[in-house]
Amino acid sequence: MINLILFGPPGSGKGTQAAKLVEKYDLLHISTGDLFRYEMGNDTELGKQAKEFIAKGELVPDSVTIGMLKNKVNANSDVAGYIFDGFPRTIPQAEALDVFLSEKNESVSALIALDVDDEEIVQRILNRGKTSGRPDDNDESIIRNRIEVYKSETSPVFDYYAQSNKSVKINGLGSIEDIFERLCDKIDQL
Ligand code: ADP
Repeated sequence: MINLILFGPPGSGKGTQAAKLVEKYDLLHISTGDLFRYEMGNDTELGKQAKEFIAKGELVPDSVTIGMLKNKVNANSDVAGYIFDGFPRTIPQAEALDVFLSEKNESVSALIALDVDDEEIVQRILNRGKTSGRPDDNDESIIRNRIEVYKSETSPVFDYYAQSNKSVKINGLGSIEDIFERLCDKIDQL
């Protein structure tokens, strides 16, 4: 099984690339952001819980996020592997994922980080906000808060998987096709 973590700051292109990767590698794309938006759209209890954090550009608590992720994986076990997009976003989430996969005799294959600088990210997200309908994409101070949260809480996850030589970084600037090729090069080495 391939268990790939697609990593990088908000707006770095994870969702765009994941959509292309699933076609090529027959993997299931699991985006915790998409799962939260689905729950919010259906106004479920989980959606209501998540909404207050997402609106401020903060992380949804680990307990909520980890439970939701496990449910999604367990409901879709008949696949060649997973692309985790937007998860894990904290060290406790990474530790929980490792335990969860090891219980299935599986492990994280690699973490691939898309490297994009802050100003490019802000511009990309503001641009996406024009059509995404996401309130968290339409306010520069919320976007900057998401970037700060990424630096303080999420970027340590890169170092966490680097300890087992699983983390790699690729240039996240350029055309969608160019970045896709860089990603495929890394995946084909696994
Ligand atoms: P982006 O990568 O553009 O920030 P996402 O769709 O991945 O967007 O996430 C949107 C929001 O959902 C995040 O800002 C955060 O509030 C919440 N979220 C998504 N994934 C997680 C996670 N793994 N842990 C906590 N909160 C999360």
